[in-house]
Order: sequence, then structure tokens, then C-alpha cells
Amino acid sequence: MISVNEARKILAENLTRGGSVEIQVSEAAGYVVYRDIVSPADVPAFDNSAMDGYALAWGKNRESWTVVVEIPAGSAKNFRLSEGEAARIFTGSPMPEGADTVIPQEQIERTGNIIQYTLPGFGTGANVRYKGTQIRTGELMMQRGTLLSAGGVGLLASVGFATVEVFAPPVLSVIVTGSELRTPGEPLTHGAIFDSNSPMLKAALNRLGVRKIYTSRVADNEPELRKNIEKELNKSDVVIISGGISVGDYDFVKTSLAGLGVKELFYKVKQRPGKPIFAGKLENKWVFALPGNPASVLSCFSHYVKPCIRYFMGHNNVWNPDITLPLAEDSIKKKGLTFFMKAYTENGKVHLAEGQQSFNLIAFSKADCFAELPEDVDFVEAGTSVNIYFL
Ligand code: AMP
Ligand code: MG
Repeated sequence: MISVNEARKILAENLTRGGSVEIQVSEAAGYVVYRDIVSPADVPAFDNSAMDGYALAWGKNRESWTVVVEIPAGSAKNFRLSEGEAARIFTGSPMPEGADTVIPQEQIERTGNIIQYTLPGFGTGANVRYKGTQIRTGELMMQRGTLLSAGGVGLLASVGFATVEVFAPPVLSVIVTGSELRTPGEPLTHGAIFDSNSPMLKAALNRLGVRKIYTSRVADNEPELRKNIEKELNKSDVVIISGGISVGDYDFVKTSLAGLGVKELFYKVKQRPGKPIFAGKLENKWVFALPGNPASVLSCFSHYVKPCIRYFMGHNNVWNPDITLPLAEDSIKKKGLTFFMKAYTENGKVHLAEGQQSFNLIAFSKADCFAELPEDVDFVEAGTSVNIYFL
């Protein structure tokens, strides 16, 4: 059996990037820019006022001006001020020609159309936002590989982009296996359970920006299972299977995958939860078969599937933990297995949640992350820094 880091290394050697897709900028936060982006415009597009106040030509030993015009934001007219004239102006209004400075209204005394400035010292050019000072037409604005935030979306929109080309998410299939499974909403007969894995995986995939997700549910029946996996492999870049990968008499996933020619990258990892995880490839397509216990599914998804999907979608450093934090309390563990513990962060420390069994989801009522406890120890002391992966 291989260690968690060996499993990561094997996946890292098999990573592939996806193609690109053009999407609305407002939908693009969380996606990665596919091509270098050059600004198609000067921003600001015109010299404009940074304040509500008066635009005028500063200097020339003058302390008073005559207000001859008012320029609201959005005004499309061009004005020219003559010597001794000022314009009433507002934040974002275009500067009139002949003016070089805006004096904030709080610093002006106005009587009728005459304004006076009496405070000493004022810099020429104050409170003016000049054309092109944020970015100029043709300047490189964002590099390929940039992760778009909401702020990045704002920047794209500010130069006039309605759409942006980003790394495309993979098309994905989720197959849940198990004759005991019912969909929430269906009646639950004795011996049956609700399928929590497919909603959970879909939710996790949605958060990664994966939009095209086929879900199917298959009973523990080998021919049906094989047919279903084959069908999903034809449609999708990534196939995630839950359940049926363990050693029970009704666990048909591994033989089905072998029958379909899926190449095994690894099977079984020295970890808790989720030891019997399978990762494989069919040409460029990923296949992950995760042990069906719900907490194993989410843990395996987070630590193996998610990094591969994120790499496909243009992200880098996909194996890095989100952060490291000191453990709040001592923890005893089994040596020889990496433990991925459901945990919650509080005041800069990480606490392990109650209910760590792999069938038990109750810890997720509180957990916001997985904390990774290393393989080669049987005890982790409070205060030790551990790797944290947010849910
Ligand atoms: P398996 O990996 O198929 O042996 O399943 C392990 C445990 O997880 C069993 O108790 C299953 O009933 C349960 N399980 C499997 N699939 C799901 C699912 N989609 N939702 C909730 N529990 C599941
Ligand atoms: Mg099963």
C-alpha cells in the first residue's frame, strides 16, 4: 500500500490541463484566465475630478473665481474655462479644458457665483484623476494563469469586457453505487438509506466551478455497473464513482473498470478515512472510485480529486494545504496511516470535531476543514502545526 504523499506524486505525474471557455465576467470569479489580457482602453478614459468641488486653473496669484458652468458626472459636453473662471464639478465628472485642479467644496466659500479660497498652499493638479493613469490601451493587464477574484472581475469590466476566456471546467460524471440507495424525497424502506454522496459531491464540484455534472445511481450489479461506467466515460473528462470499491462480495467497481481498460494508477492508500480508494486513467480521462462511506468520499475528493480538477482548470500549487495551523488539543492516532480529521478553525487554532468515523457526517455540522495528521507518528501534541484543507 502506498502513502498519501506517494499517491499525490502519482497523480501529479498524470495531471492535464483543460481547454478554454468564454464566460460572462460576472460569472468568472474563481476561474483562471486562459490568455494574457491586454487593456482595450485607457482608464480613466478622460481626465476627471476625484472630488465634489470646483475645477479651475490654480495659481496666478488668484484667490477668487467666477463659477460659469456646472458639470455633473456623465456630462458629455466639452467646456473651456477662461482666465478667472471655475466649474462646479462632482466626483467622476470630466474636467473642463483650461482647468488643472479641483478644490474640494469644503474648502471653498461661495457667494452667488463667486468662490473664494483662503487657506494657504494648494498643489496644482490636486484632486484630478488623469486619463490612462490606471491602465493604458495595449498594456498587459492580466496574465494567463491569474485566478479571478471579484476584484479582478471589476477590473475586467472597468475596461469594457463583458466576457472573458477562462480555463474550462471538466465535464464530470458522478456515479453512486449501492442497491440500498434512495434519493432524498423517495420513501425509505427498511434497509435502505438516503444517497448523501451525490448531493455532497455535486455541492463540492459546484464550488470548484464545475457546471456540467451527470449523476447516476446504479445497483450492485456488475453488468449494469459496467454499462453505466462505460456510458459516463464516453461523455465526461472525469468520472467519480462512490461505493463498491472495497472487498465485499458486491463490490464490482474494480473489476468493471479493469474490464473497460481503465489503467490503474493506484489502489489503496495508507490513510483514514478512505483507504480503498482507486485512481485510474483511460487515455486523458480521470477515473476515481471512492469508498462509499460519506466522510471517506468527501475526504478522498478533497485530497485527490479536487487537486486534479483544479489543475485541469488552470490552477497551480494544487497540492499545497490552504494554511497550516497549530492543533488546539493533543491527539492520539494510529501510526502508519495519515489521518484526515474533520476539524474547525477558531482563533488561529484548529480543533478536531467529534464523530470522526467514516460513516458519520455529524462532524460536518461544525467542521470547516480537514486537518492532516502525519503518517509516521502515534501522537500529535497540542501546538504542533498541521496542514489544513478548507471544505
Ligand atoms: P461501500 O463502499 O459500497 O461498501 O459502502 C460503504 C458504506 O457507505 C455503506 O454503509 C453504504 O451504505 C454507504 N454508502 C455507499 N454509497 C452511499 C451514498 N451514495 N450515500 C450514503 N451512503 C452511502
Ligand atoms: Mg456498496
